[in-house]
Amino acid sequence: MIPYGRQDIRDEDVAAVAAALRSDWLTQGPLVPRFEAAVAERCGATSAVAVNSATSALHLACLALDLGPGDHLWTSPNTFVASANCARYCGATADFVDIDRDSLNLSVAALADKLEQAERDGRLPKVVVPVHFAGQSCDMAAIAELSRRYGFRVIEDASHAIGGRYRGRPIGQGGSSDITVFSFHPVKIITTGEGGMALCRDAALAEHMAALRSHGIRRDPARQAEEGPWFYEQTELGFNYRLTDLQAALGLTQLARLDEYLASRRRLADRYDSLLADLPLRTPWRDPAADSAWHLYVVRLNDASRRRAVFEHLRSAGIGVNVHYIPVPLQPDYRGLGFVPGDFPAAEDYYSRALTLPLYPTLSEAEQDRVVAVLREALA
Ligand SMILES: *Cc1c(COP(=O)(O)O)cnc(C)c1O
Repeated sequence: MIPYGRQDIRDEDVAAVAAALRSDWLTQGPLVPRFEAAVAERCGATSAVAVNSATSALHLACLALDLGPGDHLWTSPNTFVASANCARYCGATADFVDIDRDSLNLSVAALADKLEQAERDGRLPKVVVPVHFAGQSCDMAAIAELSRRYGFRVIEDASHAIGGRYRGRPIGQGGSSDITVFSFHPVKIITTGEGGMALCRDAALAEHMAALRSHGIRRDPARQAEEGPWFYEQTELGFNYRLTDLQAALGLTQLARLDEYLASRRRLADRYDSLLADLPLRTPWRDPAADSAWHLYVVRLNDASRRRAVFEHLRSAGIGVNVHYIPVPLQPDYRGLGFVPGDFPAAEDYYSRALTLPLYPTLSEAEQDRVVAVLREALA
C-alpha cells in the first residue's frame, strides 16, 4: 500500500529517543524547552508552549484568550473537527465561515459579510480560527485587518503548515494573529508521535498556556521564599497536557530536517501538477502570496459523481488515497447543534469532488508515477 501520508524515521531519530530514555527525564524535562526554543527560532516567534497534541494547544489557546460560555468561535468548515471542538471544550459556541473556491481556506469575503451581520445581531465572535488548509496560508493580512475592525482574536490552526510562508515570512511569526498552533501527528510535516505546539505573540499568553498545560500550577519565587522551596500553588483549573522529553527528542531531530522535507514535498507537488495536467480534474490552486508546506496534495474531480468509484479503484490498486475533509458542520454531533446540509455550499461542493493523493517526503518518483497511472486508468 502507498499511504496518503507517512512519517520518516531515521537512525538519528531512534538514537535521540534512546538517549532521552536513558536520561534522568522521561516526562517534561530539559528537551521540551529546547524543542520549544528551536521551533520558535525556526518560525521567527518569541514564545512557544509544547503540548501533547494540537487539539490540546487549541483548547489552551482558547482558554488563554478567555473564550467561555456565551462566546462564539468561528472557523472553516473544511478542517479536522479539532479546529471547532476547542470552542465547545470551553463552553463556547462554534460556527463556520464558508471557504474560498480557489484556496479552499476560509473565505475573507464570506467572513466580512458574516461579521457585518453578526455586528447587527450583537453576536460577534471572540475568536476566529483560520486553518491553513493543506499547508497554504490563509489571507492573514485581510483577516488581521478585520480582527482590528471587529475586535476578535485570531488563532491560526497551522497543523498542516509548519515551515510554510506567507508574504515571505514564516507562518508562526505572529504578525497577524495572537497564537499559532502546529500538530506533530505522524501524518503531519514533522512528528513527535503525538504532539503539538503553540507560538504566542505575547509572552503573557505563553505563560498562561504553560500553567494550564500542567494543572494550572505556578511556582512563584517570591512565594517560595516565604513558604519554602517546595511550595507551589494551583491558581486556576488546568490539565495534564505535557509533552514528554522522549517526544521532544524526536521533535528536535525531525525539525533539523524540516527544510529537506519541505523541498521534497514541493518537488513532488510540482511533479504532480505537470503529470496530471491533461486529466479531467483540478490541481491545487497556488496563492502567489504563500509558499505552501504541502501537507496534502488534493485534486478536485470535474465529475463529482465519479469520486467514489475513482477512490475505490485507487484503494483496490493499493493506493491509499483519502478525502480531506467532510465539512465539520455535517458531522452528526454538529447537526445536533442545528447545522444542516446547504449551510456551507462551497465547502460541500468541494468535499463532493475532493481526493487526496499520496504525498510525503519518502514517496519515490516511481511510486508517484504509479499513483498517476492508476488515477488515469480510473478516470478513463
Ligand atoms: C491534525 C489536525 C489537528 C489536530 O492535531 P492533533 O495533534 O492530532 O491533535 C487540528 N487541526 C487540523 C487542521 C489538523 O489537521
